[in-house]
Amino acid sequence: MTRFTIAIVGRPNVGKSTLFNRLAGKQLAIVEDTPGVTRDWREAAGQLGPLRFRLIDTAGYEDSYDDSLPARMRQQTERAIEEADLTLMVVDARAGLTPLDETFARLLRKGSRPVVLVANKCEGRAGEPGLLEAYALGLGDPIPFSAQHGIGLSDLYDAIVEHMPEEEPEDEEQPQTEPGLTVTGEDGEEVLDGDLLPDDAPRIIQMAIVGRPNAGKSTLVNRLLGVERMLTGPEAGITRDAIATDWEYEGRPVRLVDTAGMRRKARIDEKLEQLSVQDTLRSIRYAHVVVLMLDAELGMDKQDLTIARMVEEEGRALVIAFNKWDAVADKETALADLRDRLETSLSQVKGVPVVTLSALKGRNLDRLMAAVFQVYDTWNRRISTAQLNRWLAGLLEMHPPPLVAGRRLKLRYMTQIKTRPPTFAIWASRPEELPGSYQRYLVNGLRQDFDMPGVPVRVYLRKGR
Ligand code: GDP
Ligand code: GDP
Repeated sequence: MTRFTIAIVGRPNVGKSTLFNRLAGKQLAIVEDTPGVTRDWREAAGQLGPLRFRLIDTAGYEDSYDDSLPARMRQQTERAIEEADLTLMVVDARAGLTPLDETFARLLRKGSRPVVLVANKCEGRAGEPGLLEAYALGLGDPIPFSAQHGIGLSDLYDAIVEHMPEEEPEDEEQPQTEPGLTVTGEDGEEVLDGDLLPDDAPRIIQMAIVGRPNAGKSTLVNRLLGVERMLTGPEAGITRDAIATDWEYEGRPVRLVDTAGMRRKARIDEKLEQLSVQDTLRSIRYAHVVVLMLDAELGMDKQDLTIARMVEEEGRALVIAFNKWDAVADKETALADLRDRLETSLSQVKGVPVVTLSALKGRNLDRLMAAVFQVYDTWNRRISTAQLNRWLAGLLEMHPPPLVAGRRLKLRYMTQIKTRPPTFAIWASRPEELPGSYQRYLVNGLRQDFDMPGVPVRVYLRKGR
């Protein structure tokens, strides 16, 4: 049977096998050597969402080697590319580009078949510089991806489907598994990817509630879970360090990520007076959306600001829950003070939603959850390149970048390189000379004009284009 064939190529250790295994489903088969033709590759029936294809992988057979591409490896790669309708070229975004990546890219640019560039190991921030470097390979926009964590599957889907013929023969019944649906990561940076679900299907939002001791976190959790108890946990599935509780709020699945600290407290029923920064950081890393709980009678202090900044640093979406609102006498002043504090000390996440509530009395919990869902959607937001460049042109017209040494800096082109959180790249003539104030102006303008309050917005400047 002929089938759309996808080859995975790239230098060793970039994650080809990991990607192969993620796309291969269960029907893994190693191709036997045909006499006379040695084909050193693995082959499997691949699957990505509803797409079915034949998958070949050149990894795992090469011996270790340095920066030169041995003739045998080159031959295998060339043959795989020839046999494939589409090639996935994988690079390691954490390691950055190497001369060997360039060699592979050159090989692929010579061919006439479509290539999709996959910047692997893009979970977390460590991959962002490498992701930007990958644009230089001349193979189109790289897809930010994590084979290990299952991030970027829907972008990969979009890129592949563009090159596939409309009617792929569908000969077997659809397997029930959704690749990329449940993903467990070692370091927990991303434990689940709902990316591949159809748009109307529920996506699991991972939510953490953090804050100083006595802010009312446990009270809130009990309230939330008490209302609609859809527990399948607590389930120690994520890792030994965090416990997740799955429940539903108005039909939307939510995974509440608990910290070791909260568990400890629940178990031995003693108050931990110290805020454990380690525990807090851990639950922030497991979360998509972080609810920072404040005691409204006390307002926002330095520790709270530290937590809020950690949320920003880790690229998570933030909602502030101003709790114990029932006990606050002068509500107006309390809120004004908080706004003031946010304005002066937390400009990194402008417009972060603040919800006043009473966990004890169960008031305003619906508004809290609405805010959580809203920032989650913003966090996943994708803005088209056309829209961004129209926006950039307008902005440049209104406020051109300053003159440096008598010359005007040019900002030429802009695109969104990833979501979760929204991250953008702008190509400029002399990016290193653009003043920090103008960069902040860009970030704030983006956040405001595209309505992205409460989530970190990142802009990288690159030279060229
Ligand atoms: P190959 O030689 O290209 O087939 O690479 P492998 O699939 O064997 O992966 C090389 C190493 O990178 C292994 O230790 C993997 O666990 C690791 N790896 C693969 N994908 C990812 C990823 O998305 N993120 C991170 N951090 N590591 C990954
Ligand atoms: P945690 O340490 O953040 O988990 O805080 P707890 O949930 O244990 O709450 C600390 C104290 O604040 C308890 O005595 C709660 O009853 C009280 N508390 C929690 N939420 C509210 C609220 O909305 N209003 C008032 N008045 N008290 C609250």
